[in-house]
Amino acid sequence: MSVLDLRRLTGVARQQALRLILIGPPGAGKGTQAAVLKDRYALAHISTGDMLREEVRRQSPLGLQAKTLMAAGRLVPDALILDMMAQRLQQPDVSRGFLLDGFPRSRAQAEALVSRLAAHNQPLHSVVQLDLQDEEIVRRLCLRRSCPACGRVYHLQSNAPIAAGYCDADGSALVHREDDNEATIRTRLAVFHEQTEPVIEFFRSVGLLQRVDASLPIEHVEHLIERLVQGALTKTSPLRTSRRLTAGKTRSLGRAVPR
Ligand code: ADP
Ligand code: ADP
Repeated sequence: MSVLDLRRLTGVARQQALRLILIGPPGAGKGTQAAVLKDRYALAHISTGDMLREEVRRQSPLGLQAKTLMAAGRLVPDALILDMMAQRLQQPDVSRGFLLDGFPRSRAQAEALVSRLAAHNQPLHSVVQLDLQDEEIVRRLCLRRSCPACGRVYHLQSNAPIAAGYCDADGSALVHREDDNEATIRTRLAVFHEQTEPVIEFFRSVGLLQRVDASLPIEHVEHLIERLVQGALTKTSPLRTSRRLTAGKTRSLGRAVPR
């Protein structure tokens, strides 16, 4: 990844096609917040977890390879994810702006994304980190229920559906995801700390990361993200952004970035 790539990545996005990443541990509320943001800003919501679950459902070659790893709480290999994302990012809806949810999750994924966005002159507006303690994550995920049809998520206590067991939006029977059990949640958390935290550090080092306390109530988190997004959209000083970039750490994702 070159400095030029990084400048392009962090450069001010002048057109109003919003490009965001939601990053954080499993259960932090990325999907919940994505559902609001995608409607508000007419964004392509790109959730690698949802895409993979669809592949598993269809029993495609990718789905067959991903199924066991997902059930065990391990990451699907980067090569498979990058192939899937390369295709997704070519879809026409992406030009309206996008919201990445659950990607990038490893250094290799982050590097590939940065190169691609730089090559397409698509700077990111913001990387919003939803930050939450492990124990709260376990509490949330054990009681999460998901709609297999529309992807909407609920919580049996804090965010229950109107009719118990059924999606408010489309009436489908809600499911308890196979990987939302305590042992697998702990594996997923370990994977997050080991593989995704360095990605968060990378985005922090280039001045794009904005942290939100994800332990707050859903509407409060929504409000905080909205303020960050509005701030990112009105940011007008490319110089400030590139100064911040060069003033920050230039060593990232485990290798030196030439200046
Ligand atoms: P992620 O996409 O990051 O894995 P989800 O959006 O699926 O997380 O949320 C995980 C669980 O936590 C769901 O049951 C959801 O209803 C619940 N949840 C999301 N945000 C909050 C919040 N701010 N406070 C309490 N519960 C929340
Ligand atoms: P959550 O945010 O609740 O952990 P996701 O729905 O984002 O769950 O992902 C579910 C599973 O799909 C992950 O545990 C992992 O096995 C796989 N997965 C999703 N996104 C990626 C990714 N970017 N790289 C590798 N594996 C992924």
